[in-house]
Amino acid sequence: MSAMPSHVLPSAAKLSHALGSLHRQVPLTGTGLESVQRHLSEDVAPAFNAGSQSSRYYGFVTGGATPAAVFADNMVTEYDQNVQVHLPNETIATDVEAASLDMICDLLGFWNKDFPHRTYTTGATASNIIGLACGREYVISAAAARNGTIANVSSMGLIAAMRVAELDDIQVLTSVPHSSLRKAASITGLGHDSVRDVGRASEPHLFDSAALKKALETPRTASIIVVSCSEVNSGLFATSEDDMTNLVDLAKKYGAWIHVDAAFGLLARILPDDNSDYKTLKSGVKGLEYADSIAADAHKLFNVPYDCGILLSRHLDIGTAVFQNPGAPYLNAAAGSVPSPLNIGIENSRRFRALPVYANLVAYGREGFVDMLERQIALARIIAAHMIDSDDYELLPLVSGGATKEELLQRVYIIVLFRAKQEALNIELVKKINASRKIYVSGTKWGGQPACRFAISNWQASIDKDWSTVKEVLDSVVNDATVSEA
Ligand SMILES: *Cc1c(COP(=O)(O)O)cnc(C)c1O
Repeated sequence: MSAMPSHVLPSAAKLSHALGSLHRQVPLTGTGLESVQRHLSEDVAPAFNAGSQSSRYYGFVTGGATPAAVFADNMVTEYDQNVQVHLPNETIATDVEAASLDMICDLLGFWNKDFPHRTYTTGATASNIIGLACGREYVISAAAARNGTIANVSSMGLIAAMRVAELDDIQVLTSVPHSSLRKAASITGLGHDSVRDVGRASEPHLFDSAALKKALETPRTASIIVVSCSEVNSGLFATSEDDMTNLVDLAKKYGAWIHVDAAFGLLARILPDDNSDYKTLKSGVKGLEYADSIAADAHKLFNVPYDCGILLSRHLDIGTAVFQNPGAPYLNAAAGSVPSPLNIGIENSRRFRALPVYANLVAYGREGFVDMLERQIALARIIAAHMIDSDDYELLPLVSGGATKEELLQRVYIIVLFRAKQEALNIELVKKINASRKIYVSGTKWGGQPACRFAISNWQASIDKDWSTVKEVLDSVVNDATVSEA
């Protein structure tokens, strides 16, 4: 791989050159391979951002791509395997998928049999869609069963199934949901408005148990509970192990389904138990094995190229009912222990997404992943400590009742949410930081006010490599000096 780029964003000149160079019409006679290679390398690629290549791109939660994953991903492209039907005598692809998903479960401390419905998706949004689709199937049949009838969405459709189950409404009860959850609710026919925030007023990432219970008791209403397993703005976790146990009891009582959106939170499960620095984080991922379904991203903290997400569910029967590709005998799989991907996920034909994950797990091992995550957390915490000590910046969310610095840092995972104390600067903060082109942060809102966030998710990130640059940019922004564009 080429050396890490010094700038995380392309210059305006490179962007405008690339834009001017783009073909807008299909040429009658093609320009040929060599010419298009030159065009892509010399005109187009210089105008890409270095979001994945640089350890100093802290926008969104972007992740990166390790050398092993890049190697494997290029191999995926070269061999162009279509992973839809399990055909073990014709290609090893589905067995690699199964092996990699077994290893993922093992890495995360899940029992191998906990989540028999497991598959790769395009990302956590798709995994959330699968989670809600399976949850919808489950809660409607549970409601029907209570009335002594049978109803399912997969055959009857949502409207008929709800009528038979005597349901007026399905609600998605959550706290601080990721925006993709509302999108998933729309796609699955539940609607944006079905997503209801039952977080506490004081600490919105935590469930308000009274409000949750009251919502679950709503007559003629079925519920899917969604746990935000690390909120995208703050990196805070919605539950502890006790909370998960309580949710499971409630779900049993009210026939609800528990889905966990653990897009980037899930990897916290690999942190060592014997290090008290991680106690708060570990508590946020305890008990996830009790969930009905879990969404995660591999293209974030697992550092494989886009597009790769993971879905784990404990109900293979429901997954198969919802995603069965029916009535196509030519797509029949060999009998065996590996379900055909096309019958348990959204796509029929799809990319061999497992190989980069497989390569990463084998190349770096458990220790490699722990090391990577510990470096990311250490960098996030040194930035957060700087915010706590600073006269110019403050760490968000503000904690009422005066937490100690140590307690505040304990809560920091790979995200640092902050703002400038000076209101005028705060409005311009993201723009000024990103104008350096040396680091990149995302803007967001917190408590209705503009705020700024670092999301550290690249495999290369470390204090040694990145902190001095981060500090230089943060200092120069408050000193209002222009950061040199060396
Ligand atoms: C990123 C993210 C998603 C959406 O994931 P995509 O991979 O972009 O589809 C969902 N939930 C959370 C918490 C996320 O951070």
